[in-house]
Amino acid sequence: MTNKSYAGYCTSPDFKERLAQCRGIIVVCGSCEQHGHHLPLDTDNIIGMELALRIAEQTDMLVMPPVNYGQVWSAKGFPGTVCLSAQTLKQILREIITALEQQGARNIVLMSGHNGNYPFLKELARELLDDYGWQNIWHFPVISMAFSKELTSKAKAPVPTVAVHAGEMETAMLLYLRPELVDLSRASAEFPEPPADYPYRPMHWDQFVTSGSFGKGAAATAEFGREICEHAVQTCAELIRKLVKYGPEASD
Ligand SMILES: [Zn+2]
Repeated sequence: MTNKSYAGYCTSPDFKERLAQCRGIIVVCGSCEQHGHHLPLDTDNIIGMELALRIAEQTDMLVMPPVNYGQVWSAKGFPGTVCLSAQTLKQILREIITALEQQGARNIVLMSGHNGNYPFLKELARELLDDYGWQNIWHFPVISMAFSKELTSKAKAPVPTVAVHAGEMETAMLLYLRPELVDLSRASAEFPEPPADYPYRPMHWDQFVTSGSFGKGAAATAEFGREICEHAVQTCAELIRKLVKYGPEASD
């Protein structure tokens, strides 16, 4: 990463100066999670950070070093998946946010490269409002924006509704962002049918998916990945510019 929006590459005095001027801070969490046989465990971390850095450039924000583990209960049965409890994930983020609040961050935007983290990001923002009255904590579901209905309909292979995970769309994003980490020759084509009781009781994915991926990863292209990533960045950046005010905008 050579992006000037990455706070991890700032010196301490430079960070202080940027913090005072910028719209706010983006905190990304991701996951250490199996993504089939053709994508790396780091997939959600790469996607989360790459989207956040592009969004930050367009919105005058800074991106903190990420939390590279998340809540991945469903994929627990696969090698390499490491799941934080929701309680631990929220506690880590709570302490990061508290430090940034104490240093004077105007706004703090929570993002995730992994959809399963979002319910807890929202829950945490609510708790911080109740506990401290902090109204400057935001959560933008950038992954839902990436997997919009419109873009899903452009996929070449069917996109399973059970989970958008390590299939054509996510593979396309990684092919665009980090092609050297994708091995399409190992991608499976799996369209799992979960048991009828799946929506009504807890069930790990390894009970009904063999490879860990949903859909046909080999149908992915880098060009489709570029389209998905650009759509997510543009949608999220527009929302942030509209809603997360700072400086002269704040008095609009
Ligand atoms: Zn993922």
